[in-house]
Amino acid sequence: MRLYNTLTKNVEEFNPRVEGVVKLYTCGPTVYNYAHVGNLRTYISEDILQKGLEFLNYEVIRVMNITDVGHMTSDADAGEDKMLKGARREGKTVYEIAEFYTDAFLSDMEKLNIKKPKIIEKASSHINTYIKMIEKMLEDNFAYISGGNVYFDVSKAKDYYKLSGKNPDDLLVAVRDTVEEDNLKRNPFDFGLWFTTSKFENQAMKWDSPWGVGYPGWHIECSGIACEFLGDYVDIHCGGVDNIFPHHTNEIAQSEAYLGHSWCNFWFHGAHLNDQTGKMSKSNGEFLKLSVLEEKGYSPLDYRFFCLNSHYRNTLVFSYDSLDIAKNSLNKLRKKIQSLSKDGLVDSLKYDKYVSSFAEAISNDLNTAQMITIVYDVLKDAEINDKTKFELIDKFDTVLSLNLTLIENQEKIDQELKEYIEKKILERQEAKNSKDFVKADFIRNELLEKNIKLNDTRDGTTYEVID
Ligand code: AMP
Ligand code: ZN
Repeated sequence: MRLYNTLTKNVEEFNPRVEGVVKLYTCGPTVYNYAHVGNLRTYISEDILQKGLEFLNYEVIRVMNITDVGHMTSDADAGEDKMLKGARREGKTVYEIAEFYTDAFLSDMEKLNIKKPKIIEKASSHINTYIKMIEKMLEDNFAYISGGNVYFDVSKAKDYYKLSGKNPDDLLVAVRDTVEEDNLKRNPFDFGLWFTTSKFENQAMKWDSPWGVGYPGWHIECSGIACEFLGDYVDIHCGGVDNIFPHHTNEIAQSEAYLGHSWCNFWFHGAHLNDQTGKMSKSNGEFLKLSVLEEKGYSPLDYRFFCLNSHYRNTLVFSYDSLDIAKNSLNKLRKKIQSLSKDGLVDSLKYDKYVSSFAEAISNDLNTAQMITIVYDVLKDAEINDKTKFELIDKFDTVLSLNLTLIENQEKIDQELKEYIEKKILERQEAKNSKDFVKADFIRNELLEKNIKLNDTRDGTTYEVID
């Protein structure tokens, strides 16, 4: 398996420490709001990584944290507490917010056919682990106490800047806006391991500790959960590119300080999905979440297909035009696959040949576009029978997870499309009745962009789906 490693900045051969078993750690969401589709792109890329490894016969032990405490609006411990902000926004408790958005996240994952990690752990459930690690770091002088808080001293870390590959001056310029002056720190990049002097009076989640009542910093949560559930080593650690600095940099510093040896040699980072403004944010009321796409008539798997057409290391710009193209191509692809006859025998020579090409696409730094091309190549291949084609695509779909071979799924999709169009026709009729012809035309064009043509007849409006 060849994979890009952020640590070495190269595509290189990946080998786990124990043959055949991959210990995979993936940073999870901060559950203060719904995930935006950018966040979901990262989880889709990680899902392809897990399933790609499984296709190559590795056993994958995947761990994910759920951050329900300690994450500030700035990743460098500054700003407001994200969970408190969420609770205030909705007039609920932090616990209610955490539970609600954890469920929403898991539901998004399911809709996107993302395999649920074997181990999902709430950050707030492992306080004793963080305390034990922090005590050891204090003992070994990697950490210091200042004004009631415990900080990690980055000057003590070996190669603190190795993951980002940048020097401190450049990093300081890059994060100037987010690194708040904290007089308690010795160095601007030192980071909080435990806070007792919270800026937030109404901090809800607090625990007793040797340094007073307080709460853990965001970074220690991932190191703690990774060490507790995966042991002394992680084979691949994942996240979005924004996690490289400071989050993953700090995870390496504290995990290695605690363990006393190098911790994870392979770092996998998904590039961002941005909207037309150049970034993706949750600050506007109506941000791009999965349910917004669903309300507009797209299925979560249309979005998954849209993501898979690009390489996980390329920044992607979201647009409804591109999503329309993905939706239409996926529908056509599914129809072709579902029209294949299931009779006959699998031609095992041809089957094996295509399975190895697919494995090569996985090994080629998870080239999802190449994987999709192989699906089309199989369909076009005049030398193989339908049964072989169907079984091959069924096998590829263990990685792509686009429900390519699920017959009942197509019926469900057709039914959903029918209901969506009928709802739109009704809305258009109401607009016409109230003489809002601009809205009526808008709805007609909105549907046309999705290849749905309306025909007004004497008996009412009918529709056709055009290819
Ligand atoms: P958060 O819930 O903010 O901790 O982020 C969850 C995951 O989404 C992290 O792995 C981030 O690196 C990733 N992420 C954040 N913004 C984007 C984006 N625009 N595109 C892709 N991934 C993102
Ligand atoms: Zn993390």
